[in-house]
Amino acid sequence: MNEPLIEVKNLRKEFIVQGKSLTAIRDISFTIAKGETLGLVGESGCGKSTTGRCLLRLDEATCGEVLYEKRNLLSLNRKELFTFRRNAQIIFQDPYSSLNPRMTAGDIIAEPLRIHRTMDESAIDGYLAKLVDLVGLSKSALGRFPHEFSGGQRQRIGIARAIALKPHFLVCDEPISALDVSVQAQIVNLLKNLQKELGLTYLFIAHDLAMVKYISDRVAVMYLGSIVEIAPAEELYRNPQHPYTQALLSAIPIADPHLERKRQRLILTGEIPSALTPPKGCPFASRCPHAMPKCHEKHPEFKEMAPGHHAACHLLSDA
Ligand code: SF4
Repeated sequence: MNEPLIEVKNLRKEFIVQGKSLTAIRDISFTIAKGETLGLVGESGCGKSTTGRCLLRLDEATCGEVLYEKRNLLSLNRKELFTFRRNAQIIFQDPYSSLNPRMTAGDIIAEPLRIHRTMDESAIDGYLAKLVDLVGLSKSALGRFPHEFSGGQRQRIGIARAIALKPHFLVCDEPISALDVSVQAQIVNLLKNLQKELGLTYLFIAHDLAMVKYISDRVAVMYLGSIVEIAPAEELYRNPQHPYTQALLSAIPIADPHLERKRQRLILTGEIPSALTPPKGCPFASRCPHAMPKCHEKHPEFKEMAPGHHAACHLLSDA
């Protein structure tokens, strides 16, 4: 694996909700190597998007470290943060609401160039033509407004804007979940091609596990603000260790109806605990079919099961 571009250490994010502290991210640690795609999966509200936003300081972490090429982003001042933002951008989930309806596609894509003043105004038009070509749109798109495009085309505009400053790192925050199934694969393939061409590093946040497997080198599974398992993608899908990962993977639809009938789905019962009153022990204990008394008392350690494959479960620590 290449050297890390991003190192996250004991990152925690708390929000104050109705006067109470809500822990959205609970002391998570992981790395993303240069040129790698780390997939981040889990149910809605588990902290995936907050993680991506804290990495870019769109949300401010409560404590912990985010090292970008060994430099702690959380200690950057405003000016340093402004400069850092050239290196790291985000692609948002909803291409309908993330584009200003009163701006043309050309102005939307050029906006970061104008804010950061990285290019002479005279050079911008030529550069925009290259950018739209790179994301699979025609030059005529530059003069049109967001409502004139399909969802997939709008997401291509969002991607062009995100790469305009030639960043090295992109947080892709559920970039396909608002799109028709028919165009999801096109956008994922576009992201894969851009990664190869521009040497990008991705944090790819999604809940479509099949798509995450397709694009990711490694995958991290989140539950209630904690990372419960992380492994190379092939290894995680072939040999999931954590009961939550096993349940998630058992729900991926299989195209072959014969195999679909034969396979066993793990149906989770029990309530997801509130992040306002998190459980003392394992965060998954209220829904885990294997929960033991100690699971309700003690938080399981994150343990390496095989090279690069870590999981947090008492069953594995006791094995
Ligand atoms: S620690 Fe206990 S409750 Fe948590 S996943 Fe493992 S067996 Fe289930």
